[in-house]
Amino acid sequence: MPKVPVKLVSWDEIVDWTRGLAGEIKGSGWNPQVIVAVARGGYVPARLLADFLDVTNMLSVQSQHWTEAAKAEERAILKYPYKVDLKGEDVLVVDDIVDTGETLRLARDYVRDNWNPGTVKTAALQWISSVAKFKPDYYLIEVRDWTWFQYPWTRLEDLKDFLKRILREDERLKQEFSMELLERVFKEWYGVSPGDFGFYWDLAISDLVKSGFLKEK
Ligand code: AMP
Repeated sequence: MPKVPVKLVSWDEIVDWTRGLAGEIKGSGWNPQVIVAVARGGYVPARLLADFLDVTNMLSVQSQHWTEAAKAEERAILKYPYKVDLKGEDVLVVDDIVDTGETLRLARDYVRDNWNPGTVKTAALQWISSVAKFKPDYYLIEVRDWTWFQYPWTRLEDLKDFLKRILREDERLKQEFSMELLERVFKEWYGVSPGDFGFYWDLAISDLVKSGFLKEK
């Protein structure tokens, strides 16, 4: 078992999942007039949902909880709070995944309490039911065993975080090591191979070298 189980998500899966989620929302008979994307993870699903649901009104709030891949802060915070008047329109607040649920709940509460909406509902592609303190109104996939969903929009960022973490925490990488060892340790920790990341692997390595995190010999 990897220390941090990772599911590498493809763009095709994102389109399929978002279409499925749109089906759930349509099937419920509720039609949002406005979609709010929770930055940053909710941007792509929110935009695709807007397309599938034929919604043209979109806004965004940045609610932040996880500052590094697979590492959470104590509390979610709302960056850049601002006020708008939604004049009683029905609003769907969208994020990619509900893990603890802090992020989406904070965004939902903020919109409900400050933007004068009608009904406010929440949606996410994944809901990690075993740990979440908040259940979105709509979700497509219930996840029971905690997994880090490596979405395609954070491929480079997550990969660098994954690498930094093993460089900090794995004893075998504390002294000089070969690329083969790094690749083997990575696979052990995350259950996915560096090769699965395509060109992102070289990009991540060269960024870490530039920022001084890694030294090449
Ligand atoms: P939370 O507040 O714990 O529900 O975290 C939600 C936000 O953090 C999401 O918007 C994701 O972008 C990111 N996140 C948290 N947990 C995961 C996970 N298991 N896989 C991928 N992204 C995650």
